[in-house]
Amino acid sequence: MNYLKLIIAIVLIASSARVQAQKKEELKDKYVLVIHGGAGTISKSKLTPALEYEYTCALEEALHRGQYVLDTGGLAITAVEVAVKYLEDSPLFNAGKGAVFSHEGVNEMDACIMNGKDLTSGAVAGVRNLKNPIEGARLVKDSSKHVFLYGDDAQEFCLSKGASYADSSYFFTEFRWNQYLKAREKGTIILDHDTTDVNYQYKTLEELEKFGTVGAVALDRHGNVAAATSTGGLTNKEFGRIGDSPIVGAGTYASNRSCAVSCTGKGEFFIRGTVARDIAARMEFADISLTESGERTMKRLKKLGGSGGFISVDKDGNYIMMFNTKGMYRGVVTNEKNAVVKIY
Ligand code: ASP
Repeated sequence: MNYLKLIIAIVLIASSARVQAQKKEELKDKYVLVIHGGAGTISKSKLTPALEYEYTCALEEALHRGQYVLDTGGLAITAVEVAVKYLEDSPLFNAGKGAVFSHEGVNEMDACIMNGKDLTSGAVAGVRNLKNPIEGARLVKDSSKHVFLYGDDAQEFCLSKGASYADSSYFFTEFRWNQYLKAREKGTIILDHDTTDVNYQYKTLEELEKFGTVGAVALDRHGNVAAATSTGGLTNKEFGRIGDSPIVGAGTYASNRSCAVSCTGKGEFFIRGTVARDIAARMEFADISLTESGERTMKRLKKLGGSGGFISVDKDGNYIMMFNTKGMYRGVVTNEKNAVVKIY
């Protein structure tokens, strides 16, 4: 009889181990990629159908490129870089090719990338001739002793490590130039896209406020999360202003203990609120879900007076896309779900 009990116990233990192993296998199948192309006063009435289509296509293609990396077993850190790089190459977003102009009429770009596996990170700020600032950030992460490099020296380092150079003329877009002239004339600092409809006449300053920074967060099949953010900052920004995007813990953060985050909005508030790290820290220390953490962090951001949004994916594949503005260009793709893009 005792012998029978022993056999039953062994069978039970073996089958529970099999279930556990299967669960682990399931988790390994899981991957998630979430992207954003900025938040702001984006309303349907101001976006022409043609432009809406262009934005949708660009976001979808960025998702597909990143998904290919994840689907084939690639790393989250590579997927976020690939997705952001694609968005940087589009003139539609305030990053890389579409970067806004500073007070001096030049493009000064910031970017950051972070790996949740080991908390390694790289960032560049105030670079003017890197075709893809996110590529520079990745090179700082992988090939330098430092985390955050600034200005011409940062650029020189990245170029010496193989980053692609782009002449200033590459970053010129008439739309951004007009936006800059308008901002200078009004003596104001503008957050990204003046409007998506170049012919639209603005009535209020609020209508000028759109944050076109791009970002991506991912969970790969190995259980790692990563985040990447890239921006041209604010139109008409002065005095070497740097926003939240390249700052670890402000606009970008990733840890396998909790989640990966990329933000967009008025950088000053995201820096003061350490928004990206806050979302992760609440999960780590208060042991709450990603959604709850996102909601609490958003509440605090609002209290500070900040507007914008963030995307995040946690180590279990839960994800959020939250914003307190009218809209946020955003999209998600997972191992189970085809690419979905939303704007409003
Ligand atoms: N967060 C960026 C900055 O302040 C702006 C944006 O999101 O578009 O530089």
